[in-house]
Amino acid sequence: MRIGVLALQGSFAEHVESFRRLGVPAPEVRLPDDLQGLGGLVIPGGESTTMSRLLNEFGLFDPLSRMIARGFPVWGTCAGMILLARQSTALPHATLPAIDIAVERNGWGRQVDSYETEIDVPVLGAPAFRAIFIRPPVITDIGAQVSRLAQLDDGAVVAVRQGNALATAFHPELTTDLRFHGYFVQIVAAAGTDAARTESIALTTS
Ligand code: GLN
Repeated sequence: MRIGVLALQGSFAEHVESFRRLGVPAPEVRLPDDLQGLGGLVIPGGESTTMSRLLNEFGLFDPLSRMIARGFPVWGTCAGMILLARQSTALPHATLPAIDIAVERNGWGRQVDSYETEIDVPVLGAPAFRAIFIRPPVITDIGAQVSRLAQLDDGAVVAVRQGNALATAFHPELTTDLRFHGYFVQIVAAAGTDAARTESIALTTS
């Protein structure tokens, strides 16, 4: 199994290191050819406007959105959640999209630049997960098909899953807790390596 990490900008090196510690090869993805043979892809935290522009400039947007439509597993953290949402405020291009949520970028306001808190994540079990938020998006609408994996005390949903797509408003890659990475590995393993999902895409882009 190989899980790609989108490496256009942002905290991709931390994701690669987390998968390395789990023993899962995690090649960096910058060009359409890099998508071949992957079981899944992580879109890291960073600046969603920049990543959105680079996804289009580097020719990744079209193949990726087709792969996602076929069930290719993806996980977005923070800016990655924004790019996987059905709809977001203030982005230069369309989202990919993978999850039926609407998000507001920087929706907690500039004064909440970053904070950390313990959250219960039932799919991970005990203990609570240390969630690091850095100018996170706020989920403003959630479709009926979307599972809520974690909420703050005020009810704000901060982790969601729809099919093989996962999104967290916080940054597991900035902690030493590998349980979210392990959870995504399980999603990728359960999805199987459907070669047709990536190889037919590669043909249409070459
Ligand atoms: N505020 C950033 C954005 O809108 C996301 C921040 C992050 O990924 N930590 O893209």
